[in-house]
Amino acid sequence: MKRKLTILVIGIFTLIALTVTYTAGWLKGQAGQGTALVKEAQAAGGKVTSATGTAPDRYVYYPGTEKLAKDEVRVIACGTGMPDQRRGQASACFLFEFGNGEKLIFDLGTGAMRNISSLMIPYQYLTKVFLSHLHTDHWGGLSSLWAGGWTAGRPVPLEVWGPSGQTPEMGTKYAVEHFLKANNWDYQTRAFKITPVPGQIKVHEFDYKGENAVVYQENGITVRSWPAIHAGDGPVSFAIEYAGLKMVFSGDTTPNKWFVKYARDADFVIHEVFPPPEIWVAWGNQPPQLGWRACCEFHTSGQSFGKVMSEIKPRHAVGYHFFNEEATRYVIYDSIRETYDGPLSMATDMMMWNITKDKIIERMAVAPDKSWAVPGTMRQPPPEKGREPVMSEFIKSGEWGPAFNAQNKVLDEHSKKYNLQDQDWRKQKPWYKPTK
Ligand SMILES: [Zn+2]
Ligand SMILES: [Zn+2]
Repeated sequence: MKRKLTILVIGIFTLIALTVTYTAGWLKGQAGQGTALVKEAQAAGGKVTSATGTAPDRYVYYPGTEKLAKDEVRVIACGTGMPDQRRGQASACFLFEFGNGEKLIFDLGTGAMRNISSLMIPYQYLTKVFLSHLHTDHWGGLSSLWAGGWTAGRPVPLEVWGPSGQTPEMGTKYAVEHFLKANNWDYQTRAFKITPVPGQIKVHEFDYKGENAVVYQENGITVRSWPAIHAGDGPVSFAIEYAGLKMVFSGDTTPNKWFVKYARDADFVIHEVFPPPEIWVAWGNQPPQLGWRACCEFHTSGQSFGKVMSEIKPRHAVGYHFFNEEATRYVIYDSIRETYDGPLSMATDMMMWNITKDKIIERMAVAPDKSWAVPGTMRQPPPEKGREPVMSEFIKSGEWGPAFNAQNKVLDEHSKKYNLQDQDWRKQKPWYKPTK
């Protein structure tokens, strides 16, 4: 009897011990698998903490999967190339995403929206654009954000910040007003069919001669500008300040006294860098006398870029505005290294950086080639009541009924599914033959 009791007690203790050990292990495993609250930048280079845990992304950023810490900034190169287009590189564009939820686009060159739209950011958050100057390789993508975002559900107007010029016709306000005039047909047709609100652009033009002048200050973000030297009066460079960090975007510029003064000691500096004269002759289809001016008079060569960086000493420098490929990358890199030995990224499209006080990490964003716009929290307002149609009776009278009526089955089903009976647009059409 006594022996039986001893066996039972030992059995119970063993069971309790096993349960405790198992539960403790399970909880540990759970903690390893779970996503920690985002207190600090979680990007790149963490450890795997359990056999079933996940490997922190060391090399890539998958858009839409990583929260920013409050004091962190994520910068994505949405365009790093040239005015002449190629599939692998759009024209100038850098998207800044801040830990407080703000997103600011710095330059929106031709083709850049293809990169931005792959980042799966709802269009309601892509409304603020800062232009360094009015060359199309720095703002030619505005049409795609303006109209594409409108059709993809942006519920609000766009806002554009940009410099004045020597005369009103050389400034951002003139450019955007005439952009809207040139796109009047697009505007009027969408305003009638969808809603006019997302087609509006509010312009904030500021003095291009301002020196480190504040051009934007909201939600803990300050944007400053100073004059750049490039092609004519008007271009500027920007400093972006947030959470004790200072980041700089040069736009297009040759080396200048303002940049050296106001970009000094910045945490993160994006600056244009151009290939040497010989590349322009061999690859750039340019005569020799233009080749050595393109790189070195209108723009900044590798040696000059390096000299500027060695002077201002950023925590991290980024060179952009060149066709980045095997044939050219190392020539430009070597030319920079003649005069600068600090941290450096040779930017190409979708390269991205996480920036905090502690570290600056470079990775590549890996995004789908074929993504749709992601819905956000806001909905577009309905079509404006009483707005005059922009199609005449003459054109409408050309609609060929049999082909319209051929789609009645699918439209009837859609109407039933979403209770659209009272909005049946077919009833006003002379050709409409309802399905019995
Ligand atoms: Zn330019
Ligand atoms: Zn440019």
